[in-house]
Amino acid sequence: MKTKKITGMFWHAHHDKLCEWCYDYQKRVDYIKVNKPKHEIKTRLRLFKKVKGKLPEEFVEACKNWAEAVEACKNWAEAVEARKKWIEAREKWVEARKKWIEAREKWVEARKKWIEARKKWIEAREKWVEARKKWIEARKKGAEARKKWAEACEKWIEARKKGAEAREKYLPEIKALHKKECGCKEWNGKEIEFKEELK
Ligand SMILES: [Zn+2]
Repeated sequence: MKTKKITGMFWHAHHDKLCEWCYDYQKRVDYIKVNKPKHEIKTRLRLFKKVKGKLPEEFVEACKNWAEAVEACKNWAEAVEARKKWIEAREKWVEARKKWIEAREKWVEARKKWIEARKKWIEAREKWVEARKKWIEARKKGAEARKKWAEACEKWIEARKKGAEAREKYLPEIKALHKKECGCKEWNGKEIEFKEELK
């Protein structure tokens, strides 16, 4: 069953950001539970909550663009993983080619056994051709993905800049709303200060 994603502006989605656009509240909660240090988890989950009041639209828009750019960059990073498969395919190709050369050498050497050797050579060559085809495909895809990734990361940097500018511009409003809605003591203006959670 798929539940609808909770998305929007959130307080303290990350320890070093006061508020930001979050695409998937539950996903972030799950991530915190699994990956963050034990003594931080309760504080993080307590402070991580949806912004109820109104933040300046320009700021919200910049945050949203920023989050979108980060997602795009991540997605392309995954695509680049495919490039690893290309390297694997290439290794197989090199291996197959080696065997083909070996088989050919044997064939030259042992002319008497040429029928057998030739069969092996053809087999090896077929494998090599197959591996090479895969390698060429993977290389093409890998190069495309890498390019898109680089583009996405550039956009991310741009969006991050705009987000930071908007945050600077509207800092008094953001701070005021934070005080009203969250009012936590852990935010020191830069990040969450974690206290030992005793339990
Ligand atoms: Zn707070």
